[in-house]
Amino acid sequence: MKKYSRIPITEVKPTGWLYEQLKIQMNGLSGKLYDIWDSVGCYSGWLGGTGESWERAPYYLDGLLPLSYYLDDRKHWEICMKFVEWTLGSQDETGNFGPLSTWNEQWSRYVMLKVLIQYEEITEDKRVVPFVRNYLQYMARLVKTTKLQSWSKARVPDLLYVGKWLYEKTNDTQILEWLKEIDQNGYDWSDYLKDLPFPRPAKDYINWDIIKHLSKDIISNISPYHETHIVNVTMGFKHPALKAVLYNDQEYARIAKEGIKEVIHKHGVVSGCINGDEHLAGSHPSQGSELCSVVEYMFSLQSLIEVFGDAWYGDLMERLAYNALPATITEDFMEHQYLQQANQIMADDRKRPWFNNDEDSTVFGLEPNFGCCTANMHQGWPKFVHSLWLREGESTLVNMVLAPSTIDTTLCSERVILTLHTKYPFRDRLLYRFQQAPAQPIAVKIRIPSWCKRPQIICKGAKLTWQDEGRFILVEKAFREGEQIQVRLEMKEFASFWHQGTLAVERGPLVYGLDMKERWEIKKEVAGVKDYYVFPESPWNYALNSALPCQLEEQELTDIPFSKKQPPVRLKVEACQVEEWTQKNGDAREIPQSPIMGDREKKMISLIPFGCTKLRISQFPYYE
Ligand SMILES: [Zn+2]
Repeated sequence: MKKYSRIPITEVKPTGWLYEQLKIQMNGLSGKLYDIWDSVGCYSGWLGGTGESWERAPYYLDGLLPLSYYLDDRKHWEICMKFVEWTLGSQDETGNFGPLSTWNEQWSRYVMLKVLIQYEEITEDKRVVPFVRNYLQYMARLVKTTKLQSWSKARVPDLLYVGKWLYEKTNDTQILEWLKEIDQNGYDWSDYLKDLPFPRPAKDYINWDIIKHLSKDIISNISPYHETHIVNVTMGFKHPALKAVLYNDQEYARIAKEGIKEVIHKHGVVSGCINGDEHLAGSHPSQGSELCSVVEYMFSLQSLIEVFGDAWYGDLMERLAYNALPATITEDFMEHQYLQQANQIMADDRKRPWFNNDEDSTVFGLEPNFGCCTANMHQGWPKFVHSLWLREGESTLVNMVLAPSTIDTTLCSERVILTLHTKYPFRDRLLYRFQQAPAQPIAVKIRIPSWCKRPQIICKGAKLTWQDEGRFILVEKAFREGEQIQVRLEMKEFASFWHQGTLAVERGPLVYGLDMKERWEIKKEVAGVKDYYVFPESPWNYALNSALPCQLEEQELTDIPFSKKQPPVRLKVEACQVEEWTQKNGDAREIPQSPIMGDREKKMISLIPFGCTKLRISQFPYYE
């Protein structure tokens, strides 16, 4: 009982700017990490070595494996195969597997299984299905005698995701019974989303200064550590979707949507991030959001989209992928931040009011604060590719998330090849073109983003049907080779309102941030990767005219889609400087109350896509 079905990884390919983005990623840290970072290198416990034996290699492979596949990169595919082969050979008769030094820990196994099921979809290696089945059986037995602890308990939804995959592959109902038993021992994120227990920042519930000297195990036992941990929370978002499949209960659709809306309301910022540094941090645009939580939130949305089919999740996916994700990683994909801020006026290692992260968390580098994001960020774009298309029934393709791509699949027992040519999200036109189509009628269902009030669709001879209150358009006909569907999603700039009534400028799926002059200063260099401080060299303390008088400038899209030097779109908006808004300890924290009063000099300032900025204001005070 799901709205849509997922499409195997082999049937969707990135094209256009998205393909360029993946190439940048491989030329950047994704292609280098095995050689330069011991945590995922040849000493890894996941190769039988004495090195890191927990989540880092599985995290890395979860992104590197699909990335290598999409780019047809043999060299990096072979690196993945070393880990895959070692892992497949590590399972004992109980069904457990992995490095012996973490044998009694389960969480890192969940991640490695996510790697293996992608590997199976690409290669159809017959060893994977029994391997995954044996482990699920092992876990179902284990939870009868041993309580799951810590990360292994908090992150059960990722194991349910793997189990759902296996169930759909085998139709073996025994798997559902095992999953129910495992789930009953996991943290209940669906219950959590029913009535959010932590509407305020984690500091209101936990005094970190008192407990920080204790071990993490003790901390997690005496405080709501895991329940407020931002990566756990965003991983947990997929739980209602998996429960809906397990228990065949659509009530979880409402729980998921209302619950996630509430989390966004209490802890969300305009980029799509849920603030957590690294525990739930409220909605102030100067609090931080961890990169792991961005890519895990995107991955959770995949399950929510597939099971519930709600266009709203497509909007969320685009907000994160087109804003938060590119903003927190350098354009060459070499350096990243541990935490990003929606209003980020400098990135250095001043002590900021994070809940429990270190001073260097917003520095752009190899492993600021802690190396989880260094290992985990690679899944962002490749998994995004796998989120774009789904199918509904036997004869409908669903384009849920809009990005240049080709789908090559089978509908009504015949091959269909359809390419979406587009420069979206930077431009408003979508051109779908069939390279191959079945003789009989099929349908293409296209999500219309919520900001688009007047979509225009041209497809000769097709039947057009609006569904779900206009959030989807269904285009039906017997398509011929070379036939096209043209869509124009008219984009118009608009204001949205956030924490303390701050105003953000949006246009289409892109959020706009102040184009600040940045000075990059090298802090240190490790393994050929530099850590950078970034300082502002231009004013940032602006208020915007809430009527948004503005001019649009478009520039050509380059090989770097989210380029600061040549952003594909620029908005010139009317603003005034607010002299009394000053930086405090590196932050623009004390935002003046809007509407800003007084007779101030007006000027036009430049905003560029949030994803092109490394310093920015994106939630502004305003005047009327
Ligand atoms: Zn992380």
